[in-house]
Amino acid sequence: MTANTIIQVPILPFGMVNCHIIKGDSGCVLVDAGTPGSEGRIEKALREQGLSFGDIRLIVITHAHMDHAGSAAALRRATGAPIVAHEGDLPHYRREARMTFCPTGWAGRYLLRRGIILRPYEGFQPDMLLRSGETLDLRPYGVEGRVLPTLGHTAGSVSIELASREALVGDLVSSGVLMGGLIRTGRAIRPPFEEAPRTVGEALQRLLDSGVTRFYLGHGDPLGAEEVQRHAQALMRLGTLQSALA
Ligand SMILES: [Zn+2]
Ligand SMILES: [Zn+2]
Repeated sequence: MTANTIIQVPILPFGMVNCHIIKGDSGCVLVDAGTPGSEGRIEKALREQGLSFGDIRLIVITHAHMDHAGSAAALRRATGAPIVAHEGDLPHYRREARMTFCPTGWAGRYLLRRGIILRPYEGFQPDMLLRSGETLDLRPYGVEGRVLPTLGHTAGSVSIELASREALVGDLVSSGVLMGGLIRTGRAIRPPFEEAPRTVGEALQRLLDSGVTRFYLGHGDPLGAEEVQRHAQALMRLGTLQSALA
């Protein structure tokens, strides 16, 4: 088995917005692309590791929110690496449909009211599209693991599951207070937006059942299995409650 190193790249300070570089034995995979204009921060993080854009062999976009897909088109030009994403979010990647947002609390309502989350980004056509339950083996890109659909946060959300029992889950779960922050960083919370809590809970449960012990997040510091288990159960209870009230 090859050894991976996961590098958390701060797009905003205090883990408020992260993307990640998975450094494998024979190449790197970039997971998420940050807000529009994040190329410089990602290049700096690569340089600090003795790497450059040329070491990126694949770009995985976990979902179409602008804080994850915002610099995807620019980073594809800079790295020459292909982009993989799920077809469920394709109309948004192509900027053909406006996203809808289901706020989970005051933070989501604030981001929506101020128009922050609606900030436009350069559209793109992913080079590889996962359809329904398809997965992508990452070994050809130098990393022991796979990309798999984990829908629910959006209709086209994906995660990366590594042989090292680590996973990068985008916005399936966040940690800390208001997307990262300095306090309660070990606490799982819902991200500012979430479309289908029960489906998200089930996706997290599948990753837990397959033995993932550490979860890397788009917002906040990584979480262990116990905290994610507690959160997944809460989401599934919430989903049951919502469907009972519907
Ligand atoms: Zn999101
Ligand atoms: Zn996000």
